[in-house]
Amino acid sequence: MAPDTTHLALPFFDAPHRAMAAPLVAWATAQQVDESDDRQACREWVRRLGDGGWLRYCVPAAFGGALPQLDSRALVILRETLAFHSPLADFAFAMQGLGSGAITLAGTPEQQAHYLPAVARGDKIAAFALSEPDAGSDAGAMQTIANFDHSTGAEGKNDSIFLNGTKTWISNGGLADFYCVFAKTDMAAGTRGITAFIVDADAPGLDASEHIAVMAPHPLATLRFTQCKVPAGAQLGPLHGGFKLAMQTLDIFRASVAGAALGFARRALAEAVAHARQRRMFGQTLADFQLTQAKIGEMAALVDAAALLTYRAAWLRDVAVASSDTSQNANAWRERSVAAAMAKMTATENAQRVIDMALQMHGGLGVKVGTRVESLYRDIRALRIYEGATEVQQLIIGKTVLQG
Ligand SMILES: Cc1cc2nc3c(=O)[nH]c(=O)nc-3n(C[C@H](O)[C@H](O)[C@H](O)COP(=O)(O)OP(=O)(O)OC[C@H]3O[C@@H](n4cnc5c(N)ncnc54)[C@H](O)[C@@H]3O)c2cc1C
Repeated sequence: MAPDTTHLALPFFDAPHRAMAAPLVAWATAQQVDESDDRQACREWVRRLGDGGWLRYCVPAAFGGALPQLDSRALVILRETLAFHSPLADFAFAMQGLGSGAITLAGTPEQQAHYLPAVARGDKIAAFALSEPDAGSDAGAMQTIANFDHSTGAEGKNDSIFLNGTKTWISNGGLADFYCVFAKTDMAAGTRGITAFIVDADAPGLDASEHIAVMAPHPLATLRFTQCKVPAGAQLGPLHGGFKLAMQTLDIFRASVAGAALGFARRALAEAVAHARQRRMFGQTLADFQLTQAKIGEMAALVDAAALLTYRAAWLRDVAVASSDTSQNANAWRERSVAAAMAKMTATENAQRVIDMALQMHGGLGVKVGTRVESLYRDIRALRIYEGATEVQQLIIGKTVLQG
């Protein structure tokens, strides 16, 4: 089963986006990966995505990337197509981008040269560690602390940094080769007292062995930092600039979460159509019933509404990056932020509805373990929670609308 790509004719896309669609669909359709063990499957997907050249869309061209800058529309197309075929393929791709995004945005030339080409090749697996047990939606409430050790450096230069605290729900936890970790460097300064660090998986004092099992395949772990020692060169971006960096990184990838949801929804719709056409009852096919036609019509409209919001959000961001207007103009920034929030909220919520309708149309087969709509029903759920739950997106949109 292959996705329809006619929507790439929409004016949101440019020639390079249209050119990548056919080879990407052909590549994804040809891949068969044993996904019985999500961690092994994830490693395998990273390797294949690297070999196939698709991870090059996760980093800029200067470091082995496919395009001069991270391109939101390319990320959306990739995630939508990969999610249609395999949620784990999408996950493996997305985490290479999200996990290295802060290095792309704020890394030193040395950090970028060390990590980004390896991410693009699939030689290093990346992760993004922001959430904590008592700081999820309210990420600024984090308690993980980073202390600079002034005693070990020469001429006042810090030699070591010690991290203490707990991060949880970390995708690729225990699998990643490095983590972009956000920690307090000034406990009293709230979100203005957070700094980012690159922590290699073998850093002394880091324990990533506590895996978290969730309802759909998704490698996750809790990270415990106990006097975890990293060199001063591991600081990522400016001191106390970590929260802004985390938000800027999430900002790039928010529309791509919507892209993944869209891929799930398109797959559910395709499964529903195929099933309705062949399932016979009462002397005709399920598709012959008007009630089925109405449901398919509703599903198609939900998918299209999500697609238009998703593509608009990605396009707005790419246009802003191309004109170097990424944050200066407050009105443009609010427009992009609201567009991304609408896309993330609508695409994930609509996908859940579309998948539920597709499952219903399958009758008993819909809940049989192993059928595609059954796994999609589980796969979509977390997307309504991570990278800003639906309620958080509603607040972003609602507050902006009320401000006028
Ligand atoms: C599968 C998965 C993968 C993840 N991967 C990562 C990762 O790689 N890195 C990382 O750092 N984190 C990751 N997370 C964590 C994720 O970002 C958090 O789960 C999310 O931010 C919500 O935080 P929480 O779970 O603590 O829920 P809480 O913050 O406790 O929120 C609970 C619920 O409260 C509601 N809510 C939130 N804010 C408001 C509000 N203002 N008003 C009303 N209701 C509200 C929402 O419904 C929300 O779901 C992942 C989570 C999951 C489930």
